[in-house]
Amino acid sequence: MNYDGLFARAIDDLKVEGNYRVFAELERRRGAFPRAKRLVGSKLADVTVWCSNDYLGMGQHPDVLAAMHAALDRAGAGAGGTRNISGNTVFHAELEHELADLHGKEAALLFTSGYVANWAALGTLAGKLPGCVVLSDAKNHASMIEGIRHSRVEKRIWAHNDLDDLERQLAIIPRDRPKIVAFESVYSMDGDISPIAEICELAEHFGALTYLDEVHAVGLYGPRGGGVAEARGLAHRIDVIEGTLGKAYGIMGGYIAASAAAVDFVRSFASGFIFTTALPPAIAAGALAAVRHLKSSDVERRQQQTRVEELRRRLDVVGLPHMQNDSHIVPVLVGHPVKCRYVADLLLDEFGIYIQPINHPTVPKGTERLRITPSPVHSEDDLDHLVAALSELWSRCSLERRSIAAE
Ligand SMILES: *Cc1c(COP(=O)(O)O)cnc(C)c1O
Repeated sequence: MNYDGLFARAIDDLKVEGNYRVFAELERRRGAFPRAKRLVGSKLADVTVWCSNDYLGMGQHPDVLAAMHAALDRAGAGAGGTRNISGNTVFHAELEHELADLHGKEAALLFTSGYVANWAALGTLAGKLPGCVVLSDAKNHASMIEGIRHSRVEKRIWAHNDLDDLERQLAIIPRDRPKIVAFESVYSMDGDISPIAEICELAEHFGALTYLDEVHAVGLYGPRGGGVAEARGLAHRIDVIEGTLGKAYGIMGGYIAASAAAVDFVRSFASGFIFTTALPPAIAAGALAAVRHLKSSDVERRQQQTRVEELRRRLDVVGLPHMQNDSHIVPVLVGHPVKCRYVADLLLDEFGIYIQPINHPTVPKGTERLRITPSPVHSEDDLDHLVAALSELWSRCSLERRSIAAE
């Protein structure tokens, strides 16, 4: 059997579809973000990053770096074990306490990433509740889908943000079966926001647990950065809030915040929590500093929102098609995988603008896009340069100009 031949054939198929992923190799420079260096051959080229999930530039915030340096000097490099076997430090406990407070919950639990948090928490909650059914929004993130699959419980997919469909599906499940409604607040590829209050109402009516992924919202929405649920005064109605420390908080790690009983349940049964080394203390310390900073400072959030509005306005002026939504994510539609990659390549090579093209299977075929995430660290000049470059490439590639309505 020629295994490498089989691997290569699968990769060739991806290349033909225009869906082969090429990573840009970057050197991030502290204090210079969104500027970075990109390795091209053996040379370094300047780029401006427009697709980072370090939404607020917290990855270079002085408080965060100081906390990480101090923790590294005090505690050393790694945690030295799982949480259960010698890896549990004061840094982890303090961060969990802070995260529970952020969401107004009794407890929180850390994981090594948001992906692992979803996979482990959802998989465990569903798998260990006898006879559980999971009702999963059609656009849920891969980490939730994998967690549900891993639990091997019955899964019902409801049409994206469709309350009628959710209600229909809830209504036919026997009342005495445990149910989990799993969904997100900000959907990362379209940037649309779910009707959280209405979903809570349905879940309460049918006795279902609510599990909300706020990965693209924590740090960014709500007076203390507690996410869209906080912004809308709904956090108390969500049973489990899941978040990441790797996006707006600028570092890495994931967590859930929930009742003490739910957190203890996941802590006690989740393989993906129990059998893996705890986050390094310095990571926990940095995340704590980032969470604390964004709890009391609104400056970054407001600046980001201003930048987002400004980008949308300028795109409208030149007629570039971007999806309308109420979030900080600006998807500019290309609608063709090869052209999408081509435009992204030209942006990078000719204009020093880095926007990773988003193709199938991340988004449906025909909706290939450039997903732009403006941040407080992008300047007016950066915006001018970006929109001028896009406009020129739109002409050169004969792409359509229009303004598409909200979906
Ligand atoms: C990025 C992402 C995750 C995973 O979080 P990481 O901390 O990057 O592992 C989970 N859910 C959604 C919706 C995401 O976009």
